[in-house]
Amino acid sequence: MKKFKIIFSIVIAIIIFFAAIFLMPTPEGFPILEYHTITNTPDIDSKRYNVLPADFNAQLDYLQQNGYNTITIQEFSLARQGKLTLPDKPIILTFDDGYSDNYEVMMPILRSHKMKAVVYVIANELGKPGYLTIKQIQEMQGRGIEIGSHTANHRQLVGLTHKEILHEVRDSKIFLEWSGINSISSLSYPNGAYDDELAEIIKNENYLSAVTGDPGLNDFETNPYLLQRVNIPQPRLGIFEFRLRLLKAEIFAKLGIFQHKLQR
Ligand SMILES: [Zn+2]
Repeated sequence: MKKFKIIFSIVIAIIIFFAAIFLMPTPEGFPILEYHTITNTPDIDSKRYNVLPADFNAQLDYLQQNGYNTITIQEFSLARQGKLTLPDKPIILTFDDGYSDNYEVMMPILRSHKMKAVVYVIANELGKPGYLTIKQIQEMQGRGIEIGSHTANHRQLVGLTHKEILHEVRDSKIFLEWSGINSISSLSYPNGAYDDELAEIIKNENYLSAVTGDPGLNDFETNPYLLQRVNIPQPRLGIFEFRLRLLKAEIFAKLGIFQHKLQR
């Protein structure tokens, strides 16, 4: 009987907790989505990170029908400095690693929706089998796609020496800019791993923003070197799951506010 009472209390507490989260007003801020490959033929390793073209197309349809406006991360940075006004319901679509299907498959679907995106490339992987070439990213940037750095070699930055970190973040930026890519203003942390010190280094290396893999929403109050993203893996439940992912960003943003209040 005692056991039953304990379980009952826990269930009630969980229900109250979720009801409180649900009833909290929707937090300010916009989502940043994190994709990788968009292809009908993912290899086994990337299957989990791949979204099928038909699903991606349906997701962009959903965003369009629901009044979302895609922006680039540079536009967000400019708006943050008061140099640009953002449209209503902004959203950023990001693609990590720089896979060649981003050019062959993703870009045509993106363009058919007249949308924008950000592709974070690994400088030393460019031109290798399965990855984008310099020529392709040069072309992409003229077509609504901003190129960002996903470092030189995709090494997890936390734990590297200061010199190694500089090589990864500084040299990748210089290399890309010398290759004819417009100013590289944003970085994506490999494996989403970061710490405070790293955010400071990236700021000093003249980046305007950096994205993590932590879910949540973003606004002008968010640390621009710790922007939050919702991962979009291959959906098993179609557009319903995509809507849940968008909701996940909101719930985590609410939890963030909750945590903030508790810490006060
Ligand atoms: Zn990556």
